[in-house]
Amino acid sequence: MVPESYSYIDDGKDIFRKLEFKSSKRWRKNPPHNCPHCNHDDIQGVEILGAYKGPLFWECSECGERFLRFTEKTTIAYLDKTKDLYIDLEGLDRIWEQEPN
Ligand SMILES: [Zn+2]
Repeated sequence: MVPESYSYIDDGKDIFRKLEFKSSKRWRKNPPHNCPHCNHDDIQGVEILGAYKGPLFWECSECGERFLRFTEKTTIAYLDKTKDLYIDLEGLDRIWEQEPN
């Protein structure tokens, strides 16, 4: 069970929302050749540690527009895996913050 105090931690859905994917179109194997937004031709894979080994989504190096590699549902499921990492980090922070009596 996750303690109540951790309820502010982003779950996969929150992270997904913050990434602001503007299109549900997917590029499964390779990123779009040109950014559909600004037409720049340098689209990078973005790997999220703890979520997925390899690019989880694509990002235009010019305008920062992000593109899905997997379905929304799958992307959220992968992002959700980072939740536990955040909890671990928060837990460490809390330990450091505690004043010795
Ligand atoms: Zn772009």
